[in-house]
Amino acid sequence: MMSSIIDCIFCKIASKEIPAEVLYENDKVISVLDINPIHFGHALIIPKQHCDDFLELPEETYHFILQAAKIVTQALVQSLKLEGYNLFSNNGTIAGQSVFHFHLHITPRYRDDNIRFVINLKKYSDGEMKQYGVKIRKFIQPHVP
Ligand code: AMP
Ligand code: ZN
Repeated sequence: MMSSIIDCIFCKIASKEIPAEVLYENDKVISVLDINPIHFGHALIIPKQHCDDFLELPEETYHFILQAAKIVTQALVQSLKLEGYNLFSNNGTIAGQSVFHFHLHITPRYRDDNIRFVINLKKYSDGEMKQYGVKIRKFIQPHVP
């Protein structure tokens, strides 16, 4: 039985309570066109089982999400004759997540479309990269629950 969170817009899309432009679906995932696209054709890959974010994704859904992402990306590339595309996921409010049901974005890219993260790349000082490596490796759990 699929879990569903009341008032979650993506649960409602998955259960067909609200309409969406469906590109692909199977038992585990649904892919729809984003209602406010970065470029036309901007698609979302949504697991049908509710989970707030990436870290909540059940392991058994990983394969289905990537499989659907590949199927839809292939269709976008062929139908829109894309030379490039981005796959990304916003997790947490400060990272830009606005719908708290995990999803992957797939958006077409075009030459000179002027879409970019405004970022200042940092430089590690001497030894700092190693320190970060040590700090992070302490928390690496090969089998995340
Ligand atoms: P994020 O901000 O990364 O959580 O992405 C949520 C995305 O869902 C946004 O790009 C919205 O435009 C999109 N969205 C919100 N409501 C709908 C809807 N009813 N149908 C399709 N896309 C939606
Ligand atoms: Zn949901």
